[in-house]
Amino acid sequence: MRLESKVLIVGGGPAGATAGRVLAAAGVDCIILEKNPQGTKPCGGGIPFGAFEVFDLPRSVIKRRIGILRVSPPRSGPFEIRFESGYIGMVERREFDSVLRDMARAEGAAVMKGSFVKILESGKTAVRSEAEIGGQRMEIRSGYVIAADGVNSRVRSSLGMKQINSLHTLGVKLPLEKPFRDNCCEFYFDSYARGGYSWLFPGGSNISAGTGSTNPKKLEAGLQRLLLMRGFPASGIRENGLRGYRIPLWERQPLVRGNVLFAGDSASHVMPFTFEGIYYAMRAAQFAAEALIQGDAKLYRKIWRQRFRSRFLLMKTLWMAFLKNERGMETLLSAFRDERVQQKGIRLWLDKTEGRGSFVSFVNALRKYVLF
Ligand SMILES: Cc1cc2nc3c(=O)[nH]c(=O)nc-3n(C[C@H](O)[C@H](O)[C@H](O)COP(=O)(O)OP(=O)(O)OC[C@H]3O[C@@H](n4cnc5c(N)ncnc54)[C@H](O)[C@@H]3O)c2cc1C
Repeated sequence: MRLESKVLIVGGGPAGATAGRVLAAAGVDCIILEKNPQGTKPCGGGIPFGAFEVFDLPRSVIKRRIGILRVSPPRSGPFEIRFESGYIGMVERREFDSVLRDMARAEGAAVMKGSFVKILESGKTAVRSEAEIGGQRMEIRSGYVIAADGVNSRVRSSLGMKQINSLHTLGVKLPLEKPFRDNCCEFYFDSYARGGYSWLFPGGSNISAGTGSTNPKKLEAGLQRLLLMRGFPASGIRENGLRGYRIPLWERQPLVRGNVLFAGDSASHVMPFTFEGIYYAMRAAQFAAEALIQGDAKLYRKIWRQRFRSRFLLMKTLWMAFLKNERGMETLLSAFRDERVQQKGIRLWLDKTEGRGSFVSFVNALRKYVLF
């Protein structure tokens, strides 16, 4: 059996669903192929309010609004960052992704349950892909493919591209207990979480707890330590739905290869240091779709670079210089004790209007503490 479409979008997560929504709204015929629509991606589900504005997302998916960050550096005492305005909206990924796919469907995208298997042929004018839909192998012929199939992208491996470098994570969902402040996300920096952090994020009905590190061997010990430190039972976490996953470490990646475009985790579009990926996956997918609407796939790379390259580079520099060991973490985090650095950083993170002004003023505030 054979299907045809102008664009085949592989993956119906934040990137894929957004690409489908934008393409379909412009009248471009597209299929979103999602292998596991009932699945829940292991994810903290924290999305800055600005993303809801940029994409006009329903606020009904927000389970909790976060207005405080509690930061624990490795060697000195914790401190808090209170938002002067705005919030981080906590969502549950299964519901959030399904709402995004519904929005794409409402614009006219065809959303299908099925697995992409491989690229059979990638020519100058068309791509032939193999997929498994309803237990049957099918060929899908499309003008373009948007690979939005996440960090373990099968489209990438099918084209012989190397795996994405990542931060390893191990997380668990805990029952939301009363002593936990429900408007506060907690971040812990130490050598267990080299290159990352441990976190406690309150969600709708539970707390997401986890450790992210470039060293996978230390994850379980890091998570145990976090739970003990915060008074949660650390025994039996293996039985409590412990899940490992990977978060891309951003590096320069090909965004377009022939008629295949990569967006979101499949292109490592996760902000270094904060590891915010949902918004950047959606933005990249939007840019990819807009480039195709304009009939020039290569435009995608240009738009992405113009909008995001300098801030990804800055955050990558901070990540490389300061998050590799406890001394570096301590130095960088001490800058965030300064209220001016806090508010400029928070504004840059939460407000997605993306003017250069907020970026430049954050860099200027940080310069006093960190040499660039
Ligand atoms: C533990 C953890 C915590 C995180 N916390 C946050 C957070 O709080 N805030 C934030 O902004 N980001 C967070 N992130 C990052 C965020 O989850 C990702 O960056 C984001 O989900 C990327 O979106 P995506 O659409 O590119 O990929 P994904 O969300 O991974 O979506 C890919 C989709 O493709 C589908 N798929 C895969 N292979 C195939 C195939 N062969 N055929 C068909 N479909 C396929 C999958 O089922 C999935 O639905 C976290 C990540 C992790 C691991």
